[in-house]
Amino acid sequence: MKCIRCKKEAEVELKSHNAAFCRDCFLHFFENQVEKAIKKHSMFSKADKVLVAVSGGKDSLTLWSVLLDLGYNADGLFINLGINNFSEIARSKVEKFAQIRKVKLITVDLVDEGISIPDVKNKTRRPVCSLCGQIKRYYFNMMGLTEGYSVLATGHNLDDEVSRLFSNVLHWKMEYLKDQSPVLPSENGLLKKVKPLYRVTEFDTSAYAFFKDLDFVDIACPFSKGATFTVYKKHLNQIEFSFPGTKIDFYQGFLKKLRPIMTNDENSRKNTCKICGYPTFSDICGVCRLKGYR
Ligand SMILES: [Zn+2]
Ligand SMILES: [Zn+2]
Repeated sequence: MKCIRCKKEAEVELKSHNAAFCRDCFLHFFENQVEKAIKKHSMFSKADKVLVAVSGGKDSLTLWSVLLDLGYNADGLFINLGINNFSEIARSKVEKFAQIRKVKLITVDLVDEGISIPDVKNKTRRPVCSLCGQIKRYYFNMMGLTEGYSVLATGHNLDDEVSRLFSNVLHWKMEYLKDQSPVLPSENGLLKKVKPLYRVTEFDTSAYAFFKDLDFVDIACPFSKGATFTVYKKHLNQIEFSFPGTKIDFYQGFLKKLRPIMTNDENSRKNTCKICGYPTFSDICGVCRLKGYR
């Protein structure tokens, strides 16, 4: 198999793009996909201060690395979840990256905030993954706004977006479907959010991280066992294997055909939290409630 760009021996085959690339051309292809996503959805420009949510995993560190290589002004935000060993390993990977690339890293420690994930898991009956997501979004937003960033970038890739879309469609979660997009504009006290990796797959990201020799956490969060998204991803990959290109078609079809006709007003958070000022549906936000305010 030859690289379709330079005719050298190919190292990566991408069936959904009907393409094969050598290492250098694959890196070029990947960076091009990220740049395309940024430009197509006006995510940010070189003048913006971008805050990258970094977990220490392959996706978020790949995103941070690509944005820096493309010349964007990107700092990192790490949220220490307080999950013993797992969080310590994650923190060390993120700190090492920031040190090597000489870039700014902001850290929030959930133990200091009184809501470490193991604590929260013991205190409530709600699924821990969704609580963890809620807490992370809260701090991404809060830190982004208070530290003067114009946009928050997360490392969600095509597989993340497609499995989420699939789940939202299976259960017709209209309020979540409305919020599913590579770009959510800044509104009601919420920071603009973007997903520059939405055009590349999990496989692409792994290949990129490998070729770039990125050092990331490669163990799963101990609390994520049996998460439904893993099952959806597995089945979607089987469909993709039989019909290459289905994932990107499904996602882009949603963005082009369904999302534009969905209205976005009736569910907007009109109140602000009495304790912290965060936009909320009621008078006290979810995170302040977890902290014990009522
Ligand atoms: Zn090539
Ligand atoms: Zn609050």
